[in-house]
Amino acid sequence: MFSFFKKVTSKSPVGSRQGPEPISLEPVLIPASQHGLSEASISSGARKVIKALREAGYAAELVGGCVRDLLLGQTPKDFDVVTDALPEEVRQVFRRARLIGRRFRLAHVRMGREVIEVSTYRASSANSGQGGEVIHGDYGRILRDNVFGTRDEDVLRRDFTANALYYDPVKNHVIDYVNGFEDIHQRRLRFIGEPAERLSEDPVRMLRAVRFKAKLGLTLGDQIEDLIRDNAFLLRHVPPARLFDEVLKMFHHGCAVSVFSALRELHLFAELFPQADRAFESIDVAPGVGLVWRALENTDRRVQVGKPVIAAFLFAALLWRAVRIQRDRYVQEGMPILPAIQRSATMVVGRENQRVAIPRRVSTVIFEIWELQDRLEARRPRTIARLLENKRFRAAYDFLVLRSQAGESDEALTQWWTRIQEVDPPEQQQMIKLLKGGGSGHKRRRARKRPSKSTTKHRE
Ligand code: ATP
Ligand code: MG
Repeated sequence: MFSFFKKVTSKSPVGSRQGPEPISLEPVLIPASQHGLSEASISSGARKVIKALREAGYAAELVGGCVRDLLLGQTPKDFDVVTDALPEEVRQVFRRARLIGRRFRLAHVRMGREVIEVSTYRASSANSGQGGEVIHGDYGRILRDNVFGTRDEDVLRRDFTANALYYDPVKNHVIDYVNGFEDIHQRRLRFIGEPAERLSEDPVRMLRAVRFKAKLGLTLGDQIEDLIRDNAFLLRHVPPARLFDEVLKMFHHGCAVSVFSALRELHLFAELFPQADRAFESIDVAPGVGLVWRALENTDRRVQVGKPVIAAFLFAALLWRAVRIQRDRYVQEGMPILPAIQRSATMVVGRENQRVAIPRRVSTVIFEIWELQDRLEARRPRTIARLLENKRFRAAYDFLVLRSQAGESDEALTQWWTRIQEVDPPEQQQMIKLLKGGGSGHKRRRARKRPSKSTTKHRE
């Protein structure tokens, strides 16, 4: 299958797993003098898990993202352990392990506040071992992949060479089968095996490539970028729920702006968000200017200082132009503003769900953020106290700020909302009173009945 690998020796498989003839590669062992890592580089939880598995007679190392990140001088977000113990055997070693996953069955081991993911070596789909199954779907896509194998096999089913390094913290060497160490050094992201094949096997690898490019500054090279552009459509065959998880992984790790640029450059964005892509006007995506760009910058800033970010805000920003276009159509047809927003929101999110499945708990919040825009703009005195108490007020206010920065809503109005949150209750009352002074009771009633007219003065 992977033609660029030389079949070197036929070593006996690790542990008790016996497959048909395993593909066997001779790994290069990279010593500490070259890799610069030490046992202290890894979390105490991961160390304990590896130690316990080894004491129980199993092989165990760190693998994947954490080794890559350490070698790049970054702090890994988690430590993944790989072993020749089967998931059930892992559970016997750690009573508190939880077996999870359908596509990949693996164990979560809790160590204090850490959760260490422990997975069993797997054979690639081409070399079946024992104790599992590989199910293929259309376009060669792997649907389920539970064939256990040896480490020599495990390495071949990983996506990129940079993600296929093992670190043995006891012997303190990095185990490299695929020249990943050199690739990391050169900051190259290279597919293991034949790129076109690996990409159609699991099209999500295109999104993973974008994430590693954006987050770690790894380069893909022109050929792979062209290949991704040509195959972007394959994302249509990925379950929308998986794409939702992947979208959050891409956008919520402090490099949303670069992810967004790369997704658009590689024609992947239009596959994930076709309506948003069609609706965007140049101002929306103008660097440093438009609403989308500012929302992503804002998200990055929050992630970088450890503030929480919510999925709803991201989707609300990305889909906003599509909703506005639809809303304006409805309003032109004579529909009042609030139902127009609600209908457009349902339509846009409903269509988006066919590509990226937005869970109900998220879409509810997206709808609230959008609907509250109208109420924030209308500033109806009697509703202000309740609005300030609304649990989505803050998200909706942040969205209003973005819109105002993007030149889409009145700056004075946004400032008013900023101020009312800063002052004490008597002054809040005063501010509300002044609003009342600005209009008659008759006007307010009209505003409630026909909100579309009362709000147009603040609209774009
Ligand atoms: P992150 O820093 O985001 O966790 P990661 O590389 O660790 O990056 P994970 O999703 O945690 O990503 O996966 C762990 C490892 O499993 C990867 O490094 C890679 O070796 C392998 N892997 C994950 N997803 C895939 C995939 N879709 N195809 C092939 N290998 C994969
Ligand atoms: Mg990881």
